[in-house]
Amino acid sequence: MSANVPDTMSVRLPTPVRLLERLSSATTSLWVKHDDQTDSEYGGNKVRKIGRLLDAARDRGCNKVVTLGAVGSHHVLTTGIFGKRAGIAVEAVLVQQPSTPHVLEVVRASVGQGVQVFPASSFLHAGLLALGRAARGAYYIPPGGSNSIGVLGFVDAAKELALQVQRGELPEPELIVVAMGSGGTAAGLVAGLAEQRLRTRVLAVTVSQPAFFVERSVRSLAKETATRLGVGPLSERLEQSRSYLGRGYGFATAEGDRATELAAQVGLTLDPTYTAKAFAAALDRVALGRERTVLYWHTLSSVPMARLLAEAPLEQALSPKVRRLAR
Ligand SMILES: *Cc1c(COP(=O)(O)O)cnc(C)c1O
Repeated sequence: MSANVPDTMSVRLPTPVRLLERLSSATTSLWVKHDDQTDSEYGGNKVRKIGRLLDAARDRGCNKVVTLGAVGSHHVLTTGIFGKRAGIAVEAVLVQQPSTPHVLEVVRASVGQGVQVFPASSFLHAGLLALGRAARGAYYIPPGGSNSIGVLGFVDAAKELALQVQRGELPEPELIVVAMGSGGTAAGLVAGLAEQRLRTRVLAVTVSQPAFFVERSVRSLAKETATRLGVGPLSERLEQSRSYLGRGYGFATAEGDRATELAAQVGLTLDPTYTAKAFAAALDRVALGRERTVLYWHTLSSVPMARLLAEAPLEQALSPKVRRLAR
């Protein structure tokens, strides 16, 4: 990004791939794509989308962006970090989600990066508030950064994977398993894999709601992206599963908790909202044994939060309005 960013704080691509031997079976090997390490300050999948989105804001002459999400949104934190690096102010409209220590750390870190928070009572209310901010000149970035611009970060990720396959770093996976929140990750991968002419299909594990809405918007974003890239039909490439959602967005599940324990044995730290549910699905696919190679796409930052939290207010110092969003 901008030239005055020290390279100790920077995007690190390609992210490594690794075989999880302990969790593989005789018929199916389980691999991980380490998007937890996309950046040295704060990793995760949102890093791949944010650079292009902030460039688009600047191209429009905006030095301010507005986005929205749940209170523990990794996308909002990523936007805050990269906005600060790029000298772009970040406003975020946030809605309630079940409180966990991780959710509270993420919102603290966002405020610490200078993100200005506008609490909303529902996603509908949040949309209206965000439109209001956009009308005052802030560039609008949708939830999760998932639009026709952000999605291109995952078209690039598919290309990155294709090169790793070509270089023999991993076998061509039959299936990628990834969490689906706002859907840009899955949609970009599906279109990008088609562009790369890989046979790889994507199992997108629904973790957010309304499920039918997310599932439909991912299909249309994938299709729109493929059309822009000039690649053929995607019908067989995208599989979606609601079986891991449990009570809903942000609520832990028993399968997710079990997956979290198994992941710890191979050095992966999961969160209950996204990655625990996706990893549970990946383990089930290994058990089914239909594919020879399953690639779990690890989307949660593994960079320690200590440095970000050192710049952040204590939980008690957050405004009561913000604290009420995590309960
Ligand atoms: C946002 C997020 C996802 C989902 O990505 P989308 O592109 O919004 O579908 C998955 N895992 C983690 C950890 C995330 O923060």
